[in-house]
Amino acid sequence: MQQNLDYQQLKTQIKIWALELGFQQAGISDIDLSEAGEYLNDWLKKQYHADMEYMARHGEKRYQPAQLLPNTLSIISVRLDYMPDGLTPYKMLIQQPSKAAISRYALGRDYHKVIRNKLKKLAQKINHEIGEFGYRVFTDSAPVMEKAIAEKAGLGWIGKHSNLLNSKAGSYFFLGEIYTDLPLEPDQKQSFHCGTCTQCIQDCPTDAIVAPFQVDARRCISYLTIENKGPIPVKFRQAMGNRIYGCDDCQMVCPWNKFTQHSQEQDFQPRHNLDDTELLALFQWTEQEFLEKTLGSPVRRIGYTAWQRNLAVGLGNSKPTQATLTALKNKLETADKLVAEHIEWAISQLKLKQLKSISG
Ligand code: SF4
Repeated sequence: MQQNLDYQQLKTQIKIWALELGFQQAGISDIDLSEAGEYLNDWLKKQYHADMEYMARHGEKRYQPAQLLPNTLSIISVRLDYMPDGLTPYKMLIQQPSKAAISRYALGRDYHKVIRNKLKKLAQKINHEIGEFGYRVFTDSAPVMEKAIAEKAGLGWIGKHSNLLNSKAGSYFFLGEIYTDLPLEPDQKQSFHCGTCTQCIQDCPTDAIVAPFQVDARRCISYLTIENKGPIPVKFRQAMGNRIYGCDDCQMVCPWNKFTQHSQEQDFQPRHNLDDTELLALFQWTEQEFLEKTLGSPVRRIGYTAWQRNLAVGLGNSKPTQATLTALKNKLETADKLVAEHIEWAISQLKLKQLKSISG
């Protein structure tokens, strides 16, 4: 690294390069995450992390960046919009029980690779300009408190739903970080603009936002359909509706998302019409089809068993048709224990609805 470097100028340059690489914004945070650490410990103490043991395992590393990368002095935080243009609106999907509602961030290519590639290029640009320096890039892949860092870097504020919100772009964006030993001057933290609004808390289908900034993962459809490897608790199955991979409801109702900026990234365009597909069509994918069609997609990480589990719940919440009942019964013959239990639940729900329609 050069001596007598103009770090102010370098910081300006880093932000320009980030924009040139396709990020919508970059900012700088210092490494004091003690406030976020207190929040994390309180959240863990309340068991809101469900069985995500990794959240507790790397405790201090999350809020003490130098434990993750020694000599870290500052953090470059970036954001990348992901909402593709021209999608069937999520609100319409959740009102059509035969359709599959998939969280909008997961429709295209796995964002980890997209952001990591861009972050590496940004680090290479800095390296080219100033010579060797210490750094490590992160994209939701290590114990990093990315929302707290982004908030400190001036990219937005943490809303009551616990996502980051930006006053010019809403919340449909990914975050990434470069931990570095460069002494860059931190940006101003953005102020809080939720005001008295509580829309996300009121409209969460499973009441998972138990208090402002407090999401209980044990109730959250995103956790239940993605991280959770076991059964979906029966008490949440009806509320899940047709949300078979994640849930965007708290973002959908947020007034700040009227400022959503559409992504220009081809990689985030939906694959296999995942933005507007019938549950039944997805349920009939074989394991081989699932593996082929989700190659390079975030959806793949849940595996075929959880995929079928989620779809079975979605079908149980759809309208009873002969085609659906036949598909469920056929799959029952080969399904493993976990999926079979969800299929049986779905069949019982559909039969109940049939009975009600006859008697009512
Ligand atoms: S819905 Fe309202 S309370 Fe929730 S994050 Fe958006 S502005 Fe904040």
